[in-house]
Amino acid sequence: MVTKKSIFIIGAGPGGLATSILLAKSGANITILEKSDKIGGRTSSITENGFKFDLGPTFFLYPQALEKVFQSVGLNLMDEIEMERLDPQYRIIFKSGGHIDATNDIKVMSDQIKNFAPEDAKGFSKFMNENREKLRKMEPCLTNPFLNIFSLLSPRLLKLLPMVKPHQSLDTYLKRFFKDPRIRLAFSFQSKYLGMSPFVCPSLFSILSFIEYEYGIFHPKGGCNEITKVMAQVATDNGVEIKLNEPVEKILFNENKATGIRTKTGDYKADAIVINADFARAAQTLIPNKQRSRWKDNKIENKKFSCSTFMLYLGIKGRYDVPHHNVYIAEDYKSNLQDIECRHVLSKSPSFYVQNACVTDPSLAPKGNSTLYVLVPVSHEHENIDWAENKNNYRNLIIKELEKVGFVDLEDRIIYEKVITPADWSNQYNIHLGSTFNLSHNLKQMLYLRPRNRFEDCEGVYLVGGGTHPGSGLPVIFESAGITSKLIAEDIILN
Ligand SMILES: Cc1cc2nc3c(=O)[nH]c(=O)nc-3n(C[C@H](O)[C@H](O)[C@H](O)COP(=O)(O)OP(=O)(O)OC[C@H]3O[C@@H](n4cnc5c(N)ncnc54)[C@H](O)[C@@H]3O)c2cc1C
Repeated sequence: MVTKKSIFIIGAGPGGLATSILLAKSGANITILEKSDKIGGRTSSITENGFKFDLGPTFFLYPQALEKVFQSVGLNLMDEIEMERLDPQYRIIFKSGGHIDATNDIKVMSDQIKNFAPEDAKGFSKFMNENREKLRKMEPCLTNPFLNIFSLLSPRLLKLLPMVKPHQSLDTYLKRFFKDPRIRLAFSFQSKYLGMSPFVCPSLFSILSFIEYEYGIFHPKGGCNEITKVMAQVATDNGVEIKLNEPVEKILFNENKATGIRTKTGDYKADAIVINADFARAAQTLIPNKQRSRWKDNKIENKKFSCSTFMLYLGIKGRYDVPHHNVYIAEDYKSNLQDIECRHVLSKSPSFYVQNACVTDPSLAPKGNSTLYVLVPVSHEHENIDWAENKNNYRNLIIKELEKVGFVDLEDRIIYEKVITPADWSNQYNIHLGSTFNLSHNLKQMLYLRPRNRFEDCEGVYLVGGGTHPGSGLPVIFESAGITSKLIAEDIILN
């Protein structure tokens, strides 16, 4: 009798759930061990006093990536989750004056750009055309593993170089289309999704804003957390076992081969182990340092990590008349970025993002009330900032900033409130340095230089999620699940 292979996945975040669905029909036993009492990881919800907030992601982009996961078990994503494409997709407000309602309507968008800088109006369609081609050529990089340096030398990738311009920053690249720095910011603030500044982020990430305009930004009814909820249901319907409240304490080895997992319940034997938990934290706590040849503790400590986020989840009396997604750009944007990435201090007048989701989805709050989700990009944990000391003051400063930009009487209208600081991301959510977007996405930490989907340090260990290739953000995390599950099928299941 052939015994079934056992695959264990550590963490029920979007990456772990997608991998479990993609492997569900492979004939192996698939088990997810999740430390928390709910699924979803950073893509879960906060539900209290009748208010419901997404904990993390609120922008759902490029559903095509998740569609492939659902198709693998014969389902159609759009039949399983109700989604609305937002138009305008968001409002970008320059605290120095003026705003743009971002839309993929070329004429409406070009006219708005014209109001800021007449000579830039034609840049929008040029940008879209060039990036359409760039994404088409880049797609194989997002769907294939980078397992060694030779993967960089494939003819397909080498042909890409003139278009991708690996050493150019996103801001410099955008100068070809837009002279006005505010317009460039409108097409580059998306680098914050990777936890990076547009002045440092590699130019290939111009595809992020392109994807928004080309394929849209969607609001899943109930929030992005509904995506992981439905994925968990699909996984269990297809035979995956999900065990909540079961933190993995260590991975067990026989020499360099992973053979099992230890939790408080006991030991599990495994043919393959997939780490979906935050890479830097999991590697350092679950795999002994001596077992790791490349990713030793001191190497991880010397890597560059993304920014963190200071979060306010506010239940509000009534509703503000502002769009669903609002990005407020600081007057001194560059200085704000330096505070986050170089000086590691808190800005007095930072950029921030506000989601007013009830204008699209009143189900998120009790009748007559609404939710505000406020995300302020801040430094990851650093000795310069003591969050126990700064939490309340910074909360008060942000509420005042919100009142200044039009959320009148906000303080008096708050009826529910939760704050999450970088220290909370680190301590409660097991995220190294509270770097919510994982390792930075600079050239030294991408492709085969990122921790690999088939983890290079130990046999039988695989990675999925924002910490591995291709990187952070839901669509690429779903692509990482595609890559990782294919490797497991080749190495373990078909072997
Ligand atoms: C504030 C914020 C906003 C974001 N906004 C967006 C957005 O708008 N759009 C977008 O596309 N992306 C966004 N992201 C980025 C990214 O899409 C999400 O963070 C995503 O949830 C990361 O998925 P993941 O699969 O890497 O793992 P995670 O969501 O981090 O899940 C990992 C899981 O592993 C579990 N775990 C950890 N340690 C253990 C252990 N020892 N044993 C068992 N389980 C363990 C955790 O509890 C967790 O459930 C945002 C992230 C944050 C934090």
